[in-house]
Amino acid sequence: MRRWFFGLVFLVFPGCAATAPAEAGPKTSARAPILVQPVQAAAPRPAPSPTPVANEAAADPDADDEEGPDDDEAEAAEAEGPEAEAQAPAPPPPKPPSPLLALSVTQLEARYRSDPASVGPLSLGATNAGALVNGVQMPRSDKWIVQDPSCAWGTQETVDAIARSIEKVAAEHPGAPALAIGHISSKKGGHLSPHRSHQSGRDVDIGYYHSPPKTTFVRATEANLDLERTYALVKTIVSDADVELVLIDTSVQRLLVAHALRKGEDEAFLDQVFQVRGKHPRPLVRHARGHGNHLHVRFVSPVAQELGRRAGAFLKREKVAPPHVADAVVMHKARSGDTLQILARRYGTTVEAIQGANGLRTIDIKMGRTYRIPVPKPPTPPKSAVPKRPTAAPPRTAGATRGPTQGR
Ligand SMILES: [Zn+2]
Repeated sequence: MRRWFFGLVFLVFPGCAATAPAEAGPKTSARAPILVQPVQAAAPRPAPSPTPVANEAAADPDADDEEGPDDDEAEAAEAEGPEAEAQAPAPPPPKPPSPLLALSVTQLEARYRSDPASVGPLSLGATNAGALVNGVQMPRSDKWIVQDPSCAWGTQETVDAIARSIEKVAAEHPGAPALAIGHISSKKGGHLSPHRSHQSGRDVDIGYYHSPPKTTFVRATEANLDLERTYALVKTIVSDADVELVLIDTSVQRLLVAHALRKGEDEAFLDQVFQVRGKHPRPLVRHARGHGNHLHVRFVSPVAQELGRRAGAFLKREKVAPPHVADAVVMHKARSGDTLQILARRYGTTVEAIQGANGLRTIDIKMGRTYRIPVPKPPTPPKSAVPKRPTAAPPRTAGATRGPTQGR
């Protein structure tokens, strides 16, 4: 084994800000290839039940983790089915799966070539190594304020989910002030300062409801938080939308949970959803530094992600997507003897991809510097052999945790 194989490698967490949350965990990828049909069928269906049906996904530690197996998605959707159908009084009919999903890679490419817009939004790669094609801009509304429209582009599914969630809160809690919406993604995705994620049209920063109302992100406190509406928003998002994770500061989670308990919320629901309850290994709502004045939601976009997966190769070939779009990113601290070629070979990527991910114009790398390495597959340890998180329950504030790939 050569010495550079022992370079420090750890996962990059695709959290919100530059201080990526440990909570995002080794979630190095978009939960890739999703079984579109069941999820798609279930996604638009309102789940008004107070039971946290939609959070079956959270019951599986892997469901919001890197390599969330397709089956988890399918099972989550199926589990959601019967109850939602039994209890929903008159839900709008589920949208049919996108006809685009019937296209092969070749057909999709042909269609893109003849009319790029006709393939709709494509979410490429991981949220921290991604791109967005044919993104949709968050529309204007009197129910929300888009702070920076140039950085409010997402998949159709993301934009719709944000709008539906806020509209539902506004409808159920009349008089709701317009809610601040921060960054989603830039028009073509990719790096968006100061975030590590927000690259593939699936992440959004949303303000909390305040009393009196605020039009920007303001640190939430017991004194200024509109608990009723904010809790309704969080509950709507985790219950009705297809969500991978929600990042909320611990202090705000505590306020929300206390409010929910006072209202008589189902404790099992709270246990499943909120990290501060300490009852679930991978709850949907987790702490991450920097989320005391806004929440960060990562939505799943079954159609845009699946189409992005199929289109990825030819979009890179056509240079529509940059070479460093990847399923995941690992961090590598350069050691003596490392070269871009060696790293590319070792990690199964290309020199161009590493250059792109690090803004390198030459092939020079510096010993001791840590580089982002786009990798085709999230580096997951065998489940049976290696604990998911070797440093079990690490402090939730670190920017990164040693990953399992060290010395691979
Ligand atoms: Zn964010």
